[in-house]
Parts: sequence; C-alpha cells; structure tokens
Amino acid sequence: MVQVNDMYYAWSPNEEIVNNGECGGAVTSILKFLLEDSIVDAVLAVKKGSDIYDAVPTLVNDPKKIIETGGSLHCGTLNIAKPLEKYLNGSKDMKIAVTVKPCDAMSIVELIKRKRVDNNKLVMVGVNCGGTMPPVKAREMIEKFYKIDPDDVIKEEIAKGKLIIGTKDHEEQEIDIDELEEAGYGRRTNCRRCEINIPRMADLALGNWGVIGPLSGKATFIEVLTDKGADILDKTIKAGALRTKDPEPKGVEIRANIDKIMVKLAKKWQSKDFNQENELMDIDQYMDEFSKCIKCYGCREACPLCFCKECAIESDSPLWAPKGVIPPSPMFHWVRLIHIVDSCTNCGQCQEVCPAEIPLTKIYHKLNRQLQDVFSYRTGMDVTQKPPLSIVDKEPSEE
Ligand code: FAD
Repeated sequence: MVQVNDMYYAWSPNEEIVNNGECGGAVTSILKFLLEDSIVDAVLAVKKGSDIYDAVPTLVNDPKKIIETGGSLHCGTLNIAKPLEKYLNGSKDMKIAVTVKPCDAMSIVELIKRKRVDNNKLVMVGVNCGGTMPPVKAREMIEKFYKIDPDDVIKEEIAKGKLIIGTKDHEEQEIDIDELEEAGYGRRTNCRRCEINIPRMADLALGNWGVIGPLSGKATFIEVLTDKGADILDKTIKAGALRTKDPEPKGVEIRANIDKIMVKLAKKWQSKDFNQENELMDIDQYMDEFSKCIKCYGCREACPLCFCKECAIESDSPLWAPKGVIPPSPMFHWVRLIHIVDSCTNCGQCQEVCPAEIPLTKIYHKLNRQLQDVFSYRTGMDVTQKPPLSIVDKEPSEE
C-alpha cells in the first residue's frame, strides 16, 4: 500500500511511452492510467507545438493521445492554472488531472482558496522544476553561445549546473548555466529567484533529481505528498501501469542536497535583484515603473490570479483610463497589486507579456516575500492557510 511520504524510482512498462518521455515516462503512464480507469475525465497537460519553443496547453480525454504530452519543455513558460480556471471552470464540471510545475501548483492552491478551482475534482501531478527559459531569448542564446541553428535543436536539458543542447545530428554541447545567466540568458529572472523546486503542494512530485545508478535518465523519482496521490499511485502500480523500485538512499540524499543548493542560488538571485533585502521601494519608484504602462492590460489577462470581472470593468472604465491617454491612472496597478500580491506565486506571466518592460514580477515578488515574512504566510503551499490581505471566502456568485 502506497503511503504519504513514500518515495520511489518509477518508469513506464510501455516502450513507446519510455521513448517519448523525459525520464522513463512515469508521468505519462500515470495520466494514461487515470484516463483508462476513468478516475479522471480529462488530463490538462502541455505538448510540443510547432517546435520545442512552443509549449501548448492541451486537454486530453483519449488515453491513446496522452503520449503526445510526453517530454519536458524547458522553454514552456506558461502557467497552466490560467487555462484551468478560465476555460475549464476550475475543474468544477469534470474531474481533471493536471501536470504542474511548482508555480502552476502554487497558483492553483491560491485559486482553490478563492473557490475558483474545485480541489475535490482535481489531481495535481507535479513535476520538479529548476526553471524555464524564455523562448525568444533561448533561441538567441543558442545561436550566440552554442553556434547552433535553434531550429535544429531537439533536446534542451539542465543537468549538473549546465545547459545541454542537443541537435538532430546527435551533436551535444553544454555550457555552465551561471555563465549564460551572468550574460543575461538562461532561465527567466523569476525562475532564478524561485526557491520552490519540488511541488510539495501537489499530490505527487516527480523529477529526475536523485535517480542514480543504472536507472539514471531512465526513471523518475516520485515523492508521494497527499492521500489522493498515494491512492492514485497505489492503483497505478497495482494495475501494472507503472514499474517501481525503492530509491537508493544515496539518491534520496543527493536529491535533498541539490534542492538545498538550488534554494541557496535562488536566495542569491533574490538579494541581487531586490538590492537590500528588506528595503521597500518608495512611492516614486513605483510611480516611475507604472508610468511606463501603455494600458494593454496584458498583465491582468496573463495573471493566473486575476479573474475578477469587477476589476476588468473598473479598470477599463473611462474614469480610470480615459481613451487616448497614457499612462493610465496608477490606480489600475495599485488595485491589482493590493488585490493579489499576497497570493503572487512569482510565476512571471505579467512581466513576460508586458510590452513596456515594467519589472512587474520583480515588484510583486519582492513585496510578496516581505508579506510572507511579516504574516508568517506561505503563498501557494497550503489550501487551508488564508492569504493575509485578500478576501477569499466569497462564493463566486457573490463577486
Ligand atoms: P513524461 O512522461 O515525459 O511527462 C512529462 C510531463 O511534463 C507531461 O505531462 C508534460 O505535459 C509536462 N510538461 C512538459 N513541459 C512542461 C512545462 N513547461 N510546464 C508544465 N508541464 C510540462 N526535475 C528535476 O528533478 N529537476 C529539475 O530541475 C527539473 N526541471 C524541470 C523543468 C521543467 C520546465 C519541466 C517541465 C520538468 C523539469 N523536471 C525537473 C522534471 C523532469 O524533467 C521530468 O518531467 C520528470 O522527471 C518526469 O519524467 P517523466 O519521463 O515521467 O515525464
């Protein structure tokens, strides 16, 4: 019987899934079983679009098609909480299994608190994440540093502090991620500051860290985090849909150590980005940044936590944002900030879409870190912990 806190090495018994998967295809096999056994009605995952720089959220209800979602897209910078809440009614109408990076899972946790997602109908299959790379910059970096045509790349992997790029002709090159990041490339700036690499708020967390010995690269490490996760994994194993082995004790240790190293690195980037750790920006600095706004509202559209119809109506109103006038009233940014900053998961969506290059995620993340400290709040970690500032217990019908 699988139990919470159990750990496994796992891989798929299906050769096609193994070949298509990132590290043995355990995630794909679990998702396939959940569909075949009608434990869920659909799976929300990510698949490769036109190339490896194009990560497409996709809803699958045919178990035969789940194989299309295998593999890790390190240039997949989307936050899957957004389509789950906006287009799938927060899993209220059907049972959904969703693959989640830590920032996806954390955003979903904050949405569960706001009753925008139904946790009872959701299974979160977590994948560890050491960071994602912005697609356009990644292409530029591959040309500049690796002297490779970005369209020839079929593999991108971060391992042992190096970014490994492989081509169709099996040519592989690796460069220190530190070197790339010092030059302004590599992972997104929000990912560099992120301390959550293992999605412990999900039902299961799967990743390659800690898989050592002959199974290295061929299996994935699973940590069981909830009763739901334990039940699902138990059923998957008993049905013969997944092969497992106890992890090597040394592997468990290595996994914990890599996580610690990554947390330390994130803190280093936080100090660098936030200058003096505890210093709040003054009002002029905020106004300076917000005055770059061209009123496209991309940040509001991209943010997984922005769903209020009232906000959209108010901020589009001529009172706040008269036509033909930029910047808009700073109240748009102030209200957004006050409304969601305690639940901001540093997912980077707002900053990524901002055409005026306002460092929105950096501003939110810095404030969020301070709020977490002041209120002993841990954003996105626990559905039972209410955010310190936001009102979250309204029914959606009351909004
Ligand atoms: P597969 O069976 O190949 O399934 C992969 C699943 O990941 C699919 O369901 C797919 O939809 C989903 N997926 C792919 N790309 C994305 C994306 N961009 N966002 C959300 N979901 C996605 N493990 C570590 O131990 N350390 C790391 O630093 C680490 N970094 C990662 C970074 C990213 C961006 C991703 C996606 C994964 C990372 N992993 C990391 C996890 C690891 O790469 C494997 O996903 C994991 O070991 C499971 O392997 P698998 O063969 O069972 O997965």
